[in-house]
Amino acid sequence: MDLESLGWDAAFAESFQPHEQDGLAPARVAVEHRSEYVVYSQQGELRAELSGRMRSGGLQPAVGDWLAVAPTGDGRAIVHAVLPRRTAFIRKAAFAETKPQVLASNVDVVFVVCGLDANFNLRRIERYLTLGWESGAQPVVLLTKADLCDEVEDRVWEVEAIAIGVPVHAVSAPTGEGIDTVRSYLPPGRTAVLLGSSGVGKSTLVNALVGENLLATREVRESDGRGRHTTTHRQLVPLPNGGLVLDTPGIRELQLWSADEGLETAFPDIESLTSECRFTDCAHSREPGCAVRAALAAGELDVERFESWRKLQRELERLERKQDARARSDARKERRRFARSMRKTSY
Ligand code: GDP
Ligand code: ZN
Repeated sequence: MDLESLGWDAAFAESFQPHEQDGLAPARVAVEHRSEYVVYSQQGELRAELSGRMRSGGLQPAVGDWLAVAPTGDGRAIVHAVLPRRTAFIRKAAFAETKPQVLASNVDVVFVVCGLDANFNLRRIERYLTLGWESGAQPVVLLTKADLCDEVEDRVWEVEAIAIGVPVHAVSAPTGEGIDTVRSYLPPGRTAVLLGSSGVGKSTLVNALVGENLLATREVRESDGRGRHTTTHRQLVPLPNGGLVLDTPGIRELQLWSADEGLETAFPDIESLTSECRFTDCAHSREPGCAVRAALAAGELDVERFESWRKLQRELERLERKQDARARSDARKERRRFARSMRKTSY
């Protein structure tokens, strides 16, 4: 395994320097188990455990992370550090008692996947784009099932109108349309994730990209004599022609993330309007001098797009309130009160 094809570059090498002096080796997290990690390294695949110091706190590794490890010679290694992340998908779940959880890191490209069938939904694309921007990676919209749609060009155009500055491509697994375009985003060393609702065709797309290699991956796993690990596929999957796809359960179950900056980047039109409102705390409802209302009235801003932005913004605000430690206990009380009132009104 050469490090470059796993995503290693000059910037990671630089942040690794102090660890190199300590005699450690770079490795990238491919699979996360409860108590250990499968990592890719120049020595091939290793099973890595955290050092005592790392177990007792600090940054915990996530799939996609670059680590400084000490190989112990028997296909195992000890993790001593996590290198600074270039990008990260972070879940700050509502009511979470724990720290924000990193679901995936060092992702370069986020494919926002939506089907061109009955599932087609501009508002959902906006939502996933927001999350994509927030991670720091580059979003690309993929409209799958192009073979089931008679108005592919119109749809692409509609998405381009809401996905400002984001490439949009139609793809089809059965016909192979657009698959090479998707591949072109994944030269050796580039890492992608696929975001999108269940059933839009993410697995199908990954299979098309991986080709027969996925089978090879499975065979390696099944012939693995250790027998302790039941994983049948890597969460960080190397593609035959270079590039990697990161596919963790966390990414799949994605619901809500804090996405302040993502929202600004996904809705630059609305964000620039809000800066023209007379009052900095304008709620864009009945305030005088509201530039957003004016744009809506003039037909320059689509009502549905505005509602979508406002809904996401409210969700974020709600989430942030819940994340605040004090608000968290208030929310707990509120839930209890709510539960009590439910009991009272039920028959
Ligand atoms: P995921 O939940 O996003 O991983 O979706 P899957 O990859 O499991 O696909 C869901 C269903 O859509 C499956 O029955 C696929 O065969 C079908 N599907 C996926 N991509 C395409 C496509 O490009 N065209 C057509 N016609 N069906 C597709
Ligand atoms: Zn306003």
